[in-house]
Amino acid sequence: MHPKNTGEEALPNLKLIADREIEAILISHAHQDHIGTLPVVMRRFPSARVFMTEATAEVGSVLLHNSVNVMTRQREEIGEASYPLFTHRETDRASERWRWCPVRQRISIAGERAPRRERNALMFEFFDAGHVLGSTGILLRAEGKTVFYTGDVNFDDQTIMEAAIFPEEKIDVLIMECTRGDHAKPVDWTRAGEERRLAEALGAAFERGACVLIPVFALGKTQEMLAMLHKFRRQRLLPEFPIYIGGLSSKFTDIYDRRAHMTRRQLPRLQLMREVAPFILNDETVRDAPLRGGRGYVLSSGMMIPKTLSNVFARRLIENQEHSVFFVGYANPESPAGLLRNTGTGGEVALDPDKPAQRIRCNIEQFQFSAHATREALIDYAKKLSPGKIVLVHGDPPAVEWMRATLSAELPGSEVIVPVPGTEMEL
Ligand SMILES: [Zn+2]
Ligand SMILES: [Zn+2]
Repeated sequence: MHPKNTGEEALPNLKLIADREIEAILISHAHQDHIGTLPVVMRRFPSARVFMTEATAEVGSVLLHNSVNVMTRQREEIGEASYPLFTHRETDRASERWRWCPVRQRISIAGERAPRRERNALMFEFFDAGHVLGSTGILLRAEGKTVFYTGDVNFDDQTIMEAAIFPEEKIDVLIMECTRGDHAKPVDWTRAGEERRLAEALGAAFERGACVLIPVFALGKTQEMLAMLHKFRRQRLLPEFPIYIGGLSSKFTDIYDRRAHMTRRQLPRLQLMREVAPFILNDETVRDAPLRGGRGYVLSSGMMIPKTLSNVFARRLIENQEHSVFFVGYANPESPAGLLRNTGTGGEVALDPDKPAQRIRCNIEQFQFSAHATREALIDYAKKLSPGKIVLVHGDPPAVEWMRATLSAELPGSEVIVPVPGTEMEL
């Protein structure tokens, strides 16, 4: 699903494959841009089998039901007559048909555990991508050839997620994400150093009497931030302070907690809802929660899409110079979060096109805790595999262009392809 578009515009261009027989749909993870239109795709291709990890299925079903509610509300708010694109009932029926697959297991496209000797059958295998709970890269094998799709990947440990474990065998075609392709990793950046900087900034803000808004994705970044704040409290870097999250985020956090022992992760004993004990805000309470100093608001959406908790709360906060907004991850430059971050204190910004622009008086700081691989790690991985073809996806144009230029220079033996949407490509 295209995260910035709405209605039919947000759907993949399914017309181009309308007359094809689709045998299987493989889902890398349960972020909106990767699973958000799955019930529509399943309706158009009713005989396709759908595969994902069990954790992705659990998270994905919550996410899609939430989307139905959001779209139903938006039908009026933004006058999108096609909404909701699917219903709760259809979501339930779709998710009953999903097949759960463990990582590191060869499975045939018919859904059977595949014996290794079947050399020509089309098989897939999920690999842990280290991005969010349940996330995978997907290896396809057929006719002695291999295609590997990274999905969204992180090659470094986060606070909860552990670094990806990806295949290092011979790969013929590598389909790779490029989210962070337009930013060099700062030479002196370390996760520990960045955590320290965040703890100090929070401490300074609270001392000033600020409340701090941290816009985050409901899935992944929320739980990573909660775990980080828990560490800060436990290490006595910060005193106890109230933390607020949204309802959807709390549902995903419950899933992280329930699956803590079944998942390859750090801090497997940490139960976020019980030990961090965040307060929960909804669409109503976010409008009148007092802007009181010493509180942390870890609210979604990460890009501060209009009408979401982080957007509504930010509009209440940004004209007050005593308060703070801390950015901790990726935001599309044209999204409200991107606009606020790039405009900065002193400028003017319209976070919601339906509302008047506002003067930014609050303090704004930026921290780097991305759930995506650095571009340096992506290049290293591509060099390790040295595949015949590299297909670059999932990046803003400058990010994709840097990756294309760098890979072309460093891997002259690989064909580097930036696919044009709607054009057929021979892998
Ligand atoms: Zn993702
Ligand atoms: Zn993504």
